[in-house]
Amino acid sequence: MNFEDFKLNHALLKALADEAYKTPTPIQEQSIPIVMKGKDLLGCAQTGTGKTAAFAVPILHLLAKNESKAGSKNIRALIVTPTRELAIQIDESFTAYGKYTGLRNTVVFGGVKQGQQTQKLRKGVDILIATPGRLLDLQQQGFINLRNLEIFVLDEADRMLDMGFIHDVKKIIKLLPQKRQTLLFSATMPNDIVKLAQSLLINPERVDITPAVSTADTVKQYVYFVDQKDKKAHLLYLLEKEEIGSVLVFTRTKYGADKLVKTLLKNNIKAEAIHGNKSQNARQRALSNFKDGKTRVLVATDIAARGIDVDGLSHVINFEIPNISETYVHRIGRTGRAGLNGKAISICSADEMEDWINIEKLVGHQIPELKNQSYPVSNPDEYDRTKVRPSKGKSKTSNQGRSKKPNWGKRRNARQSR
Ligand code: AMP
Repeated sequence: MNFEDFKLNHALLKALADEAYKTPTPIQEQSIPIVMKGKDLLGCAQTGTGKTAAFAVPILHLLAKNESKAGSKNIRALIVTPTRELAIQIDESFTAYGKYTGLRNTVVFGGVKQGQQTQKLRKGVDILIATPGRLLDLQQQGFINLRNLEIFVLDEADRMLDMGFIHDVKKIIKLLPQKRQTLLFSATMPNDIVKLAQSLLINPERVDITPAVSTADTVKQYVYFVDQKDKKAHLLYLLEKEEIGSVLVFTRTKYGADKLVKTLLKNNIKAEAIHGNKSQNARQRALSNFKDGKTRVLVATDIAARGIDVDGLSHVINFEIPNISETYVHRIGRTGRAGLNGKAISICSADEMEDWINIEKLVGHQIPELKNQSYPVSNPDEYDRTKVRPSKGKSKTSNQGRSKKPNWGKRRNARQSR
Protein backbone atom coordinates (compact mmCIF):
# COMPACT_ATOMS: atom_id res chain seq x y z
CA MET A 1 0.00 0.00 0.00
CA ASN A 2 1.18 3.54 -0.63
CA PHE A 3 -0.18 7.01 0.07
CA GLU A 4 -1.72 7.37 -3.43
CA ASP A 5 -4.13 4.55 -2.56
CA PHE A 6 -5.92 6.82 -0.08
CA LYS A 7 -6.86 9.16 -2.92
CA LEU A 8 -5.36 12.06 -1.03
CA ASN A 9 -5.21 15.59 -2.34
CA HIS A 10 -2.18 16.07 -4.66
CA ALA A 11 -0.77 18.86 -2.53
CA LEU A 12 -0.51 16.35 0.32
CA LEU A 13 1.02 13.59 -1.81
CA LYS A 14 3.66 16.01 -2.98
CA ALA A 15 4.54 17.04 0.59
CA LEU A 16 4.66 13.41 1.75
CA ALA A 17 7.02 12.64 -1.12
CA ASP A 18 9.22 15.55 0.05
CA GLU A 19 9.29 13.92 3.50
CA ALA A 20 10.34 10.65 1.78
CA TYR A 21 7.40 8.80 3.32
CA LYS A 22 6.86 5.86 0.99
CA THR A 23 4.48 3.53 2.75
CA PRO A 24 1.99 4.38 5.47
CA THR A 25 2.72 3.01 8.95
CA PRO A 26 0.06 0.63 10.37
CA ILE A 27 -1.71 3.38 12.30
CA GLN A 28 -1.77 5.56 9.21
CA GLU A 29 -3.04 2.70 7.06
CA GLN A 30 -5.96 2.17 9.43
CA SER A 31 -6.73 5.70 10.60
CA ILE A 32 -6.43 7.78 7.42
CA PRO A 33 -9.47 6.23 5.66
CA ILE A 34 -11.59 6.48 8.84
CA VAL A 35 -10.79 10.15 9.35
CA MET A 36 -11.24 10.90 5.64
CA LYS A 37 -14.77 9.50 5.90
CA GLY A 38 -15.51 12.04 8.63
CA LYS A 39 -15.88 9.44 11.38
CA ASP A 40 -14.90 9.76 15.03
CA LEU A 41 -11.84 7.75 16.00
CA LEU A 42 -10.44 6.23 19.17
CA GLY A 43 -6.77 5.47 18.54
CA CYS A 44 -4.65 3.45 20.95
CA ALA A 45 -1.10 4.12 19.86
CA GLN A 46 2.17 5.40 21.22
CA THR A 47 4.23 8.19 19.75
CA GLY A 48 6.78 6.80 17.35
CA THR A 49 4.17 4.86 15.40
CA GLY A 50 3.51 7.67 12.92
CA LYS A 51 0.48 8.83 14.90
CA THR A 52 0.86 12.51 14.03
CA ALA A 53 0.58 11.97 10.29
CA ALA A 54 -2.25 9.50 10.94
CA PHE A 55 -4.42 12.44 11.99
CA ALA A 56 -2.66 15.43 10.39
CA VAL A 57 -2.76 14.12 6.81
CA PRO A 58 -6.49 13.31 6.64
CA ILE A 59 -7.36 16.52 8.53
CA LEU A 60 -5.45 18.56 5.96
CA HIS A 61 -7.19 16.60 3.21
CA LEU A 62 -10.66 17.29 4.64
CA LEU A 63 -9.99 20.98 5.25
CA ALA A 64 -8.48 21.48 1.80
CA LYS A 65 -11.47 19.73 0.21
CA ASN A 66 -13.89 22.21 1.67
CA GLU A 67 -12.21 25.23 0.14
CA SER A 68 -15.19 27.53 0.60
CA LYS A 69 -14.29 27.76 4.28
CA ALA A 70 -10.58 28.25 3.71
CA GLY A 71 -9.21 31.73 4.24
CA SER A 72 -11.87 32.59 6.79
CA LYS A 73 -10.83 33.62 10.28
CA ASN A 74 -12.44 30.55 11.77
CA ILE A 75 -10.36 27.92 13.48
CA ARG A 76 -11.42 24.76 11.68
CA ALA A 77 -9.32 22.11 13.42
CA LEU A 78 -7.98 22.07 16.98
CA ILE A 79 -5.34 19.68 18.32
CA VAL A 80 -4.88 19.68 22.08
CA THR A 81 -1.78 17.97 23.42
CA PRO A 82 -0.27 17.92 26.93
CA THR A 83 3.21 19.40 26.49
CA ARG A 84 4.87 22.31 24.71
CA GLU A 85 7.37 20.01 23.04
CA LEU A 86 4.64 17.81 21.58
CA ALA A 87 2.65 20.85 20.50
CA ILE A 88 5.64 22.26 18.65
CA GLN A 89 6.35 18.95 16.98
CA ILE A 90 2.77 18.54 15.84
CA ASP A 91 2.78 22.09 14.48
CA GLU A 92 5.99 21.34 12.57
CA SER A 93 4.36 18.22 11.12
CA PHE A 94 1.30 20.21 9.95
CA THR A 95 3.62 22.77 8.39
CA ALA A 96 5.54 20.04 6.57
CA TYR A 97 2.55 18.01 5.35
CA GLY A 98 0.39 21.03 4.57
CA LYS A 99 2.96 23.22 2.87
CA TYR A 100 1.32 23.04 -0.57
CA THR A 101 -2.29 23.27 0.64
CA GLY A 102 -2.44 26.95 1.52
CA LEU A 103 -3.91 26.04 4.92
CA ARG A 104 -2.51 27.95 7.87
CA ASN A 105 -1.52 26.38 11.16
CA THR A 106 -0.08 27.75 14.35
CA VAL A 107 0.76 26.65 17.85
CA VAL A 108 0.07 28.16 21.29
CA PHE A 109 1.59 27.00 24.59
CA GLY A 110 2.34 28.45 27.98
CA GLY A 111 5.60 29.56 29.57
CA VAL A 112 6.30 32.24 26.97
CA LYS A 113 4.87 35.70 26.27
CA GLN A 114 1.68 35.56 24.27
CA GLY A 115 2.37 38.42 21.83
CA GLN A 116 3.68 36.39 18.91
CA GLN A 117 0.94 33.81 19.36
CA THR A 118 -1.89 36.34 19.40
CA GLN A 119 -0.43 38.11 16.37
CA LYS A 120 -0.73 34.90 14.35
CA LEU A 121 -4.20 34.21 15.69
CA ARG A 122 -5.34 37.69 14.66
CA LYS A 123 -4.30 37.02 11.07
CA GLY A 124 -6.44 33.87 11.12
CA VAL A 125 -5.49 30.20 11.23
CA ASP A 126 -7.23 27.08 9.97
CA ILE A 127 -5.50 24.65 12.31
CA LEU A 128 -4.56 25.40 15.90
CA ILE A 129 -2.30 23.20 17.99
CA ALA A 130 -2.42 24.01 21.70
CA THR A 131 -1.62 22.99 25.23
CA PRO A 132 -4.70 23.20 27.45
CA GLY A 133 -3.82 26.08 29.81
CA ARG A 134 -2.73 28.62 27.20
CA LEU A 135 -5.65 27.67 24.95
CA LEU A 136 -8.17 28.48 27.68
CA ASP A 137 -6.29 31.60 28.65
CA LEU A 138 -6.32 33.00 25.10
CA GLN A 139 -9.93 31.93 24.59
CA GLN A 140 -10.96 33.82 27.71
CA GLN A 141 -9.15 36.89 26.42
CA GLY A 142 -11.15 36.64 23.19
CA PHE A 143 -8.32 35.66 20.85
CA ILE A 144 -9.72 32.21 20.11
CA ASN A 145 -13.18 31.35 18.87
CA LEU A 146 -13.96 27.66 18.53
CA ARG A 147 -17.63 27.96 17.61
CA ASN A 148 -17.07 26.96 13.99
CA LEU A 149 -14.67 24.13 14.69
CA GLU A 150 -14.98 21.15 12.37
CA ILE A 151 -12.42 18.70 13.79
CA PHE A 152 -11.14 18.24 17.35
CA VAL A 153 -8.16 16.04 18.28
CA LEU A 154 -7.30 15.12 21.84
CA ASP A 155 -3.75 13.77 21.70
CA GLU A 156 -1.97 11.72 24.39
CA ALA A 157 -5.15 11.67 26.43
CA ASP A 158 -3.71 9.37 29.11
CA ARG A 159 -0.82 11.68 29.71
CA MET A 160 -3.15 14.64 29.77
CA LEU A 161 -5.01 13.03 32.67
CA ASP A 162 -1.74 12.03 34.36
CA MET A 163 -0.70 15.65 34.31
CA GLY A 164 -3.94 16.73 35.94
CA PHE A 165 -5.49 18.41 32.88
CA ILE A 166 -8.89 16.77 33.13
CA HIS A 167 -10.68 19.95 34.26
CA ASP A 168 -9.10 21.99 31.50
CA VAL A 169 -10.06 19.34 28.97
CA LYS A 170 -13.67 19.43 30.18
CA LYS A 171 -13.71 23.23 29.91
CA ILE A 172 -12.33 23.05 26.37
CA ILE A 173 -14.96 20.51 25.33
CA LYS A 174 -17.71 22.90 26.48
CA LEU A 175 -16.40 25.50 24.03
CA LEU A 176 -16.75 23.20 21.01
CA PRO A 177 -19.78 22.92 18.76
CA GLN A 178 -21.86 19.75 19.20
CA LYS A 179 -21.57 18.92 15.53
CA ARG A 180 -17.93 18.10 14.91
CA GLN A 181 -15.58 15.24 14.18
CA THR A 182 -13.54 14.08 17.17
CA LEU A 183 -10.37 11.99 17.33
CA LEU A 184 -8.91 10.77 20.60
CA PHE A 185 -5.46 9.22 20.86
CA SER A 186 -3.99 7.57 23.92
CA ALA A 187 -1.05 5.23 24.51
CA THR A 188 -2.98 3.34 27.16
CA MET A 189 -6.70 2.79 27.69
CA PRO A 190 -7.40 2.80 31.43
CA ASN A 191 -11.00 3.19 32.60
CA ASP A 192 -10.91 6.95 32.90
CA ILE A 193 -9.86 7.27 29.26
CA VAL A 194 -12.58 4.88 28.15
CA LYS A 195 -15.12 7.01 30.05
CA LEU A 196 -13.77 10.21 28.55
CA ALA A 197 -13.92 8.64 25.09
CA GLN A 198 -17.54 7.61 25.64
CA SER A 199 -18.48 11.15 26.57
CA LEU A 200 -16.60 12.70 23.65
CA LEU A 201 -16.93 10.41 20.66
CA ILE A 202 -20.00 9.47 18.68
CA ASN A 203 -20.06 5.98 17.24
CA PRO A 204 -16.26 5.90 16.90
CA GLU A 205 -14.11 3.44 15.03
CA ARG A 206 -11.32 2.06 17.18
CA VAL A 207 -7.74 1.50 16.02
CA ASP A 208 -5.31 -0.37 18.28
CA ILE A 209 -1.76 -0.35 17.12
CA THR A 210 0.42 -1.69 19.87
CA PRO A 211 -0.51 -2.98 23.27
CA ALA A 212 0.47 -0.35 25.81
CA VAL A 213 3.38 -2.35 27.14
CA SER A 214 4.94 -3.69 23.97
CA THR A 215 8.41 -2.59 22.95
CA ALA A 216 9.30 -2.11 19.31
CA ASP A 217 11.26 -4.96 17.71
CA THR A 218 13.60 -2.39 16.27
CA VAL A 219 14.95 -1.48 19.72
CA LYS A 220 17.69 -3.75 21.05
CA GLN A 221 17.69 -3.70 24.83
CA TYR A 222 20.58 -4.39 27.19
CA VAL A 223 21.29 -3.96 30.86
CA TYR A 224 24.50 -3.42 32.81
CA PHE A 225 24.46 -4.12 36.52
CA VAL A 226 26.64 -1.51 38.18
CA ASP A 227 27.02 -0.37 41.78
CA GLN A 228 25.50 3.05 42.41
CA LYS A 229 28.89 4.63 43.13
CA ASP A 230 30.26 3.48 39.75
CA LYS A 231 27.35 4.58 37.56
CA LYS A 232 28.84 7.85 36.37
CA ALA A 233 32.20 6.25 35.57
CA HIS A 234 30.39 3.50 33.70
CA LEU A 235 28.39 6.00 31.68
CA LEU A 236 31.58 7.84 30.74
CA TYR A 237 33.11 4.51 29.75
CA LEU A 238 30.11 3.72 27.53
CA LEU A 239 30.23 7.12 25.87
CA GLU A 240 33.88 6.53 25.09
CA LYS A 241 33.74 2.88 24.02
CA GLU A 242 30.36 2.43 22.37
CA GLU A 243 29.67 3.81 18.97
CA ILE A 244 27.25 6.36 20.27
CA GLY A 245 26.58 9.49 18.29
CA SER A 246 23.84 11.39 20.02
CA VAL A 247 22.15 9.86 23.00
CA LEU A 248 19.18 10.63 25.20
CA VAL A 249 20.00 9.83 28.83
CA PHE A 250 17.22 9.49 31.39
CA THR A 251 17.39 10.36 35.06
CA ARG A 252 14.58 10.20 37.61
CA THR A 253 14.93 13.71 38.95
CA LYS A 254 15.66 17.22 37.73
CA TYR A 255 18.41 17.48 40.29
CA GLY A 256 19.95 14.23 39.05
CA ALA A 257 19.76 15.50 35.45
CA ASP A 258 21.60 18.73 36.31
CA LYS A 259 24.25 16.89 38.31
CA LEU A 260 24.90 14.46 35.51
CA VAL A 261 25.25 17.26 32.96
CA LYS A 262 27.91 18.87 35.17
CA THR A 263 29.88 15.61 35.30
CA LEU A 264 29.67 15.16 31.53
CA LEU A 265 30.76 18.74 30.84
CA LYS A 266 33.70 18.30 33.21
CA ASN A 267 34.71 15.35 31.07
CA ASN A 268 34.48 17.39 27.88
CA ILE A 269 31.29 15.78 26.67
CA LYS A 270 28.78 18.25 25.29
CA ALA A 271 25.62 17.79 27.31
CA GLU A 272 22.49 19.68 28.24
CA ALA A 273 19.54 18.93 30.49
CA ILE A 274 15.86 19.21 29.67
CA HIS A 275 13.33 19.18 32.48
CA GLY A 276 10.39 21.03 33.94
CA ASN A 277 12.47 23.59 35.87
CA LYS A 278 14.00 24.98 32.70
CA SER A 279 12.33 27.85 30.94
CA GLN A 280 10.52 27.15 27.71
CA ASN A 281 13.28 28.86 25.75
CA ALA A 282 16.01 26.87 27.48
CA ARG A 283 14.17 23.63 26.76
CA GLN A 284 13.64 24.48 23.12
CA ARG A 285 17.25 25.54 22.74
CA ALA A 286 18.53 22.34 24.34
CA LEU A 287 16.28 20.29 22.09
CA SER A 288 17.33 22.02 18.89
CA ASN A 289 21.03 21.86 19.85
CA PHE A 290 20.54 18.14 20.30
CA LYS A 291 18.62 17.71 17.05
CA ASP A 292 21.27 19.71 15.19
CA GLY A 293 24.04 17.55 16.65
CA LYS A 294 25.61 20.43 18.60
CA THR A 295 24.98 18.60 21.87
CA ARG A 296 25.94 14.96 22.07
CA VAL A 297 24.08 14.02 25.24
CA LEU A 298 20.62 15.25 26.18
CA VAL A 299 19.83 14.39 29.79
CA ALA A 300 16.10 14.33 30.41
CA THR A 301 13.50 13.53 33.01
CA ASP A 302 10.47 11.55 31.93
CA ILE A 303 7.92 14.34 31.83
CA ALA A 304 10.18 16.50 29.70
CA ALA A 305 11.10 13.72 27.33
CA ARG A 306 7.95 11.81 26.57
CA GLY A 307 6.91 12.48 23.04
CA ILE A 308 10.19 14.08 22.04
CA ASP A 309 10.87 12.99 18.52
CA VAL A 310 14.44 13.12 17.32
CA ASP A 311 14.88 11.75 13.82
CA GLY A 312 17.17 8.76 13.75
CA LEU A 313 18.06 8.74 17.45
CA SER A 314 20.21 5.62 17.79
CA HIS A 315 20.67 5.32 21.55
CA VAL A 316 18.75 5.76 24.76
CA ILE A 317 20.47 5.22 28.10
CA ASN A 318 18.59 4.72 31.34
CA PHE A 319 21.05 6.15 33.82
CA GLU A 320 18.43 5.56 36.47
CA ILE A 321 15.74 2.91 36.31
CA PRO A 322 12.16 4.23 36.42
CA ASN A 323 10.02 2.89 39.25
CA ILE A 324 6.92 2.85 37.08
CA SER A 325 7.51 0.02 34.65
CA GLU A 326 5.55 1.51 31.77
CA THR A 327 7.82 4.54 31.86
CA TYR A 328 10.62 2.25 30.70
CA VAL A 329 8.63 1.39 27.59
CA HIS A 330 7.98 5.06 26.87
CA ARG A 331 11.64 5.91 27.38
CA ILE A 332 13.03 3.31 25.04
CA GLY A 333 10.35 4.19 22.48
CA ARG A 334 12.33 7.37 21.73
CA THR A 335 14.71 5.25 19.66
CA GLY A 336 14.06 2.61 16.99
CA ARG A 337 11.42 4.80 15.38
CA ALA A 338 9.94 4.52 11.93
CA GLY A 339 11.65 1.19 11.34
CA LEU A 340 15.20 2.35 12.14
CA ASN A 341 17.31 0.34 14.59
CA GLY A 342 17.93 1.65 18.06
CA LYS A 343 19.67 0.56 21.20
CA ALA A 344 18.40 1.02 24.74
CA ILE A 345 21.00 0.53 27.46
CA SER A 346 20.02 0.49 31.12
CA ILE A 347 22.44 0.97 33.98
CA CYS A 348 20.91 -0.66 37.01
CA SER A 349 22.25 -0.60 40.57
CA ALA A 350 21.35 -2.96 43.41
CA ASP A 351 18.81 -0.60 44.95
CA GLU A 352 16.94 -0.51 41.62
CA MET A 353 16.74 -4.28 41.15
CA GLU A 354 13.11 -4.54 42.31
CA ASP A 355 12.09 -1.94 39.74
CA TRP A 356 14.18 -3.71 37.10
CA ILE A 357 12.53 -7.06 37.74
CA ASN A 358 9.12 -5.41 37.46
CA ILE A 359 10.15 -3.97 34.11
CA GLU A 360 11.25 -7.38 32.85
CA LYS A 361 7.93 -8.80 34.02
CA LEU A 362 6.09 -6.10 32.10
CA VAL A 363 8.00 -6.51 28.83
CA GLY A 364 7.66 -10.26 29.25
CA HIS A 365 11.27 -11.37 28.99
CA GLN A 366 14.66 -11.09 30.62
CA ILE A 367 16.70 -8.32 29.04
CA PRO A 368 20.22 -9.51 28.10
CA GLU A 369 22.93 -8.48 30.52
CA LEU A 370 26.18 -7.02 29.27
CA LYS A 371 29.10 -7.54 31.64
CA ASN A 372 30.79 -4.43 32.84
CA GLN A 373 34.41 -5.51 33.22
CA SER A 374 35.81 -2.23 34.51
CA TYR A 375 33.51 -1.82 37.50
CA PRO A 376 32.59 -5.26 38.84
CA VAL A 377 29.77 -5.21 41.35
CA SER A 378 30.73 -5.60 44.99
CA ASN A 379 28.03 -8.13 45.86
CA PRO A 380 26.73 -10.19 42.90
CA ASP A 381 23.97 -11.70 45.03
CA GLU A 382 22.24 -8.32 45.14
CA TYR A 383 21.87 -8.53 41.34
CA ASP A 384 20.72 -12.13 41.18
CA ARG A 385 17.23 -12.04 39.68
CA THR A 386 16.33 -15.28 41.44
CA LYS A 387 17.21 -13.79 44.81
CA VAL A 388 15.72 -10.32 44.45
CA ARG A 389 11.95 -10.48 44.70
CA PRO A 390 9.79 -7.69 43.31
CA SER A 391 7.82 -6.37 46.24
CA LYS A 392 4.13 -6.33 45.41
CA GLY A 393 3.54 -2.83 46.70
CA LYS A 394 6.20 -1.42 44.43
CA SER A 395 5.03 -3.11 41.25
CA LYS A 396 3.45 -0.12 39.57
CA THR A 397 2.22 0.42 36.13
CA SER A 398 0.80 3.79 35.22
CA ASN A 399 -2.69 2.27 34.92
CA GLN A 400 -2.61 1.14 38.50
CA GLY A 401 -1.13 4.37 39.69
CA ARG A 402 -3.71 6.38 37.83
CA SER A 403 -6.81 4.71 39.13
CA LYS A 404 -7.46 7.25 41.88
CA LYS A 405 -5.40 10.40 41.55
CA PRO A 406 -2.93 11.45 38.89
CA ASN A 407 0.16 9.48 39.84
CA TRP A 408 2.71 12.13 38.92
CA GLY A 409 1.46 14.25 41.78
CA LYS A 410 1.76 11.41 44.21
CA ARG A 411 5.20 10.50 43.05
CA ARG A 412 6.32 14.06 43.27
CA ASN A 413 5.66 13.92 46.99
CA ALA A 414 7.11 10.48 47.38
CA ARG A 415 10.41 11.22 45.71
CA GLN A 416 12.34 14.26 44.72
CA SER A 417 10.52 16.40 42.20
CA ARG A 418 11.04 15.53 38.56
P1 AMP B 1 5.07 10.12 15.40
O1 AMP B 1 4.57 8.82 15.96
O2 AMP B 1 3.99 10.88 14.75
O3 AMP B 1 5.81 10.91 16.44
O4 AMP B 1 6.12 9.78 14.22
C1 AMP B 1 7.35 9.15 14.45
C2 AMP B 1 8.37 9.41 13.35
O5 AMP B 1 8.05 8.65 12.18
C3 AMP B 1 8.47 10.86 12.90
O6 AMP B 1 9.84 11.18 12.80
C4 AMP B 1 7.83 10.88 11.52
O7 AMP B 1 8.43 11.87 10.71
C5 AMP B 1 8.13 9.50 11.01
N1 AMP B 1 7.10 8.98 10.08
C6 AMP B 1 5.76 9.10 10.22
N2 AMP B 1 5.12 8.48 9.21
C7 AMP B 1 6.06 7.96 8.41
C8 AMP B 1 6.02 7.19 7.18
N3 AMP B 1 4.87 6.83 6.63
N4 AMP B 1 7.20 6.84 6.64
C9 AMP B 1 8.36 7.19 7.22
N5 AMP B 1 8.49 7.91 8.37
C10 AMP B 1 7.35 8.28 8.97
